[in-house]
Amino acid sequence: MDQQQPPGFSTRSVHAGEARPNPYHAVTTPIVQTSTYTFEGTDDVRAFKEATQAGGRPQRGEYGRYGNPTAWAVEEKMAALEGAEDAVLCASGMNAVTTALLTLLSPGDHLLVTQDLYRKTRQFANTFLRRLGVETSYVPVGDEEALARNLRPNTRLVFTEIPTNPYLRVVDLARTAELAHAHGARLFVDSTFATPYNLRPLEHGADLVVHSATKYLGGHNDLLAGILVGPQATIGPLREALGMLGGVVDAGCAYLLLRGLKTLALRMAQHNENGLRVARFLAAHPAVATVFYPGLPSHPDHAQAVRQLRGCGGVVSFEVRGGMAGVQAFIDALRIPLMGPSLGGVESLVEQPALMSHYELDAAERRAIGVSDGLVRYAVGIEDADDLIADLAQALERIDRG
Ligand code: PLP
Repeated sequence: MDQQQPPGFSTRSVHAGEARPNPYHAVTTPIVQTSTYTFEGTDDVRAFKEATQAGGRPQRGEYGRYGNPTAWAVEEKMAALEGAEDAVLCASGMNAVTTALLTLLSPGDHLLVTQDLYRKTRQFANTFLRRLGVETSYVPVGDEEALARNLRPNTRLVFTEIPTNPYLRVVDLARTAELAHAHGARLFVDSTFATPYNLRPLEHGADLVVHSATKYLGGHNDLLAGILVGPQATIGPLREALGMLGGVVDAGCAYLLLRGLKTLALRMAQHNENGLRVARFLAAHPAVATVFYPGLPSHPDHAQAVRQLRGCGGVVSFEVRGGMAGVQAFIDALRIPLMGPSLGGVESLVEQPALMSHYELDAAERRAIGVSDGLVRYAVGIEDADDLIADLAQALERIDRG
């Protein structure tokens, strides 16, 4: 192997961040189950404090809220996968989002976000941030003119998601970064639906990336975590803020995430293939009115997706005919996907946004934001695509098409 070549994605996925040799010469990074750490003497304390003041990821433990060796292995692996200097692991995706927004914004600042942003992120902006004197405005995804028009002298941050939920919109990241930077704002990207396997936003001009690691990164529907990835100068203050806000991940959770990351490429390749096959099948079925999947030429952002993404992932949204009754008959007849929120795990999950994520809105409010009664969000897992398609076919037969 040419030693000059940087290691490939899967090699980094498996090896980056794993200390060698590990304690006891174990292959795997241990779960360091401790709340605090000890020093050999006052010189040891002094040396640690001096090194810590210089910034950067801590070289040893002090107290559990300031970091844990198992979590540091995840941070280093994710930094290697995103092509970043640093990363900080948080207790959930929302904890990562809120830690970043609370740290990067001050009273009087303006936050500009794209409309499809994750609902809890929008709620946080509309409640907590507003109360703290930060104003948020919303622009439609893909409307660059509206984005340019809404940038103000006090806009500190532009926050977008790629692809978005549930319509899988794909913004032009380089153009968004260019517009933000021209106005002195930074670009913050929620890349949960893409993962570094499909897209590395920092390569397109983003300044900071967040993931709900609960989804594809963990990959097994068994943990909650979030991660912020970016340059050391940005991550350093976020790590410090996390030490105050307290949203730390325990070592057992960090271990599960570390293990999940080692198979990220294998899983994503299967999610990408399954997502595309399921989307193509649905698009050709008479009981399906519309399919939203950027891998299909019918999607409004197909060209952006082809240009920026390696694959379009496992989430396929679609509208079935027959309204509420149709969708209910269909979903209840599915045999493979489990019914529930979330995405990115090995098990397929299915949900009807009108009944789950948007239950508290009435039909008119849901329609106003484009969530129809017939909308289904299918988070395709890594099962065999032939089985998933056969299952969809039998369930679609239950829809009464009059
Ligand atoms: N960002 C996106 C795009 C999400 O889909 C989610 C959760 O569904 C979050 C952030 C929040 O992540 P978590 O559930 O890990 O707090």
